[in-house]
Amino acid sequence: MPFFREQPPLHTWHPHEALYPASMVKTARIVAIVPYLAGLLGLVLFFILLNSGSGKTHTLQPATVFYVLPLFVTAVVGWLLYFRIHRRARKHTYALCLRCGRTLDKQRPQGQCSGCNTPYTLSRVQWAWQRACEQPTTTCPPINPDPETFPETNPSKRSARFMPDRFGHVYLPRAFRRSTLGWGLSIIAVLATLDIGLAVTSHAMDLQNNLGLDWFVTWSLVYLALLVCSIILMAFLLIRWKKRVRVLDGDLCLACGQQLLGLPNVAQCPECGQPYNREANKSIWKAFDRSTKPWFLRFGKNA
Ligand SMILES: [Zn+2]
Ligand SMILES: [Zn+2]
Repeated sequence: MPFFREQPPLHTWHPHEALYPASMVKTARIVAIVPYLAGLLGLVLFFILLNSGSGKTHTLQPATVFYVLPLFVTAVVGWLLYFRIHRRARKHTYALCLRCGRTLDKQRPQGQCSGCNTPYTLSRVQWAWQRACEQPTTTCPPINPDPETFPETNPSKRSARFMPDRFGHVYLPRAFRRSTLGWGLSIIAVLATLDIGLAVTSHAMDLQNNLGLDWFVTWSLVYLALLVCSIILMAFLLIRWKKRVRVLDGDLCLACGQQLLGLPNVAQCPECGQPYNREANKSIWKAFDRSTKPWFLRFGKNA
C-alpha cells in the first residue's frame, strides 16, 4: 500500500476518474500554473519599479506589485477560464465531447464525435459535464449500455501524473466559497487602499526619493500581518463549516448551506432555488469534510 494513499473519496470532481472532460483537466492545469507566472511577473515589475527613476510617482507601489498583483491575476484568470468553459457547456446542454470538447448531436443517444471519432453515450457524457460544472447529479453515472462499443474516455496517464490528488484538488462547495470570498475580497480591498494611500502621501510629501529596500521591508511586515490574519480567519471559517457538515450529516444545500432536512430527495433548495440531489450533496459535503483535513493529520492513516 502506498504510504500517502487516502481512502477513495466519496464523490470527487477528479481528473483521475473515468468520464472527466479533457478540456476541464486542461483548464485546471492552466489555473494551477497561473499563480507561478503571476508571481514571476510581480517579481519582475517589483525590480523595475524599485530601480526606475526616483523622480516619478508610481501609481503601483513595489510592495503591492509583489504581493497583491499575483493574487489578483490568479483570481481573475481562474474565474474567467472556468466561467468560459461552464458557459459553453451550459449553452450546449452539457452535450460536448469529453475528449475534444466538440458539440455532440443531442438527438442521438449514442454515436461518434464528428471531430475525434470517440464513441459516446449521450447520458453519460452529459452526466460527466454536469458533474464537472458543479451541477447537481447523481453520485454514479448512468449505466453504460455497451462498454465494448462505448468505452470510457479517460484522460491520459500522463495528465494524471501532473495532477496529484492532494494538490489543489479539494472540492469546496459554493456555500463555503461564498462565505470566504467576502473576506478575501475585503483583504484585497484593504491592501489596495493602503497602496493608493501610500502613492498619494508619498507624492504629496515628496517621499519618493526615500523609498527603497528598507521601506519595502517595513511594508512587507504590514502585508504579512494581514496575510496571517486572513489565514487565521479562513481556518476559523473552515472549522465552523466542517462542524456544521458533521452535525447535519452533510444534508446541506451546496450553493447556500441551508439545511435540507424534511425536503424531498431531488428538488430545489427553498432558500436559493438551486436544484439538488440529496445523495450527491451528502457525499460532496462529506468529501469536503474529509479532504480539507491538513496533510499532517492524514499522514499514513490509511497506509
Ligand atoms: Zn471529440
Ligand atoms: Zn440553497
